[in-house]
Amino acid sequence: MYKYLREEIKNLKAYRVNEMEYKVKLDANEGIDWMDGLNRYPLDRSDELREKLAKNLHKRAQELLLGNGSSELIELMMKAYLEAGETVVSISPTFSMYRIFTIIHKGRYEEYPLDGMERIDVDRFIEFVDEKNAKLVVLCNPNNPTGSLIPKEDILRIISSVDAMVVLDEAYIEFSDYPSGDDTGEFKNLVVLRTFSKGMALAGIRLGYMIGHEEIIGYINRVRSPYNVNVLTQSVGIKALEGEGTTKKNIEMIKSERCRMKNELEKMGFKPLDSQANFLFFPGEMGLGNSLAEKGILIRSFGGELEGFYRLTIGTPLENDAVLKAIEEVQNERSKLK
Ligand SMILES: *Cc1c(COP(=O)(O)O)cnc(C)c1O
Repeated sequence: MYKYLREEIKNLKAYRVNEMEYKVKLDANEGIDWMDGLNRYPLDRSDELREKLAKNLHKRAQELLLGNGSSELIELMMKAYLEAGETVVSISPTFSMYRIFTIIHKGRYEEYPLDGMERIDVDRFIEFVDEKNAKLVVLCNPNNPTGSLIPKEDILRIISSVDAMVVLDEAYIEFSDYPSGDDTGEFKNLVVLRTFSKGMALAGIRLGYMIGHEEIIGYINRVRSPYNVNVLTQSVGIKALEGEGTTKKNIEMIKSERCRMKNELEKMGFKPLDSQANFLFFPGEMGLGNSLAEKGILIRSFGGELEGFYRLTIGTPLENDAVLKAIEEVQNERSKLK
């Protein structure tokens, strides 16, 4: 929405790349081809990929903007909307990059604690956003690192009640029970961020996208670096959209493994939260992460307020069995020491 834009950006025009058909192209100081046509710059706005993606999502291409991972898109929102000293509100605990990007962009970061790390008190959250006079509200749904999902009606109520831009980070939405939950429609203060890194299992190509009202996408294009998605990523992205059957099968496998792993961890005395993402979050004994790392098994440990909490990504059945076995070994070694 225009009124939330940074003053400098209100008068800035987006850089436009000339992408006309040509016989001879000597307008961009590109070199001579020696490696598969990579002497050429990519399409500035990833047109082919963006149009295919738009079709899949039942959106118009003007409602999408692609980025070098959705991380870039979080940052572009701050570049466009956040003035020095203005406030970004999010929940706690959540994805730590929101805080880091806010600080980099000279903002203030305020967090609203989740009840029991899972539920959000919507009325109080809306009050909190008002009190803090937030310019941006960032919500991660399903949330990282807890795996919990804010119900759709709560999300809709937040978007329509706050006087701020809302960034809805749906990095894990494909693993939730509402994977096509895209009825966030025509809000002019909302962008939804998605990524190819998790559900599509293509973290290596760095590709994310923003879905938003055409007007907002136009503003974000003003602060985006030209050619921000490289040629290789655009072409793999197009290929990936054709292989969606495989990703869907893998997601189903992860979901059933998530259920199995939760049960197994509970049998071992852990209490993982209900998860709608591709990981489980649970408290455990101090040093569990290190003990597992010594066995070559990496899970995520946290520090600070989340000291003693762990986040385990759901892997293949074999990998998951290896984790369970290693945890059991650690538990046995510890009980011998007692
Ligand atoms: C993994 C993740 C992302 C994705 O980042 P990319 O830059 O697209 O790889 C975004 N948000 C959250 C909360 C994540 O956990």
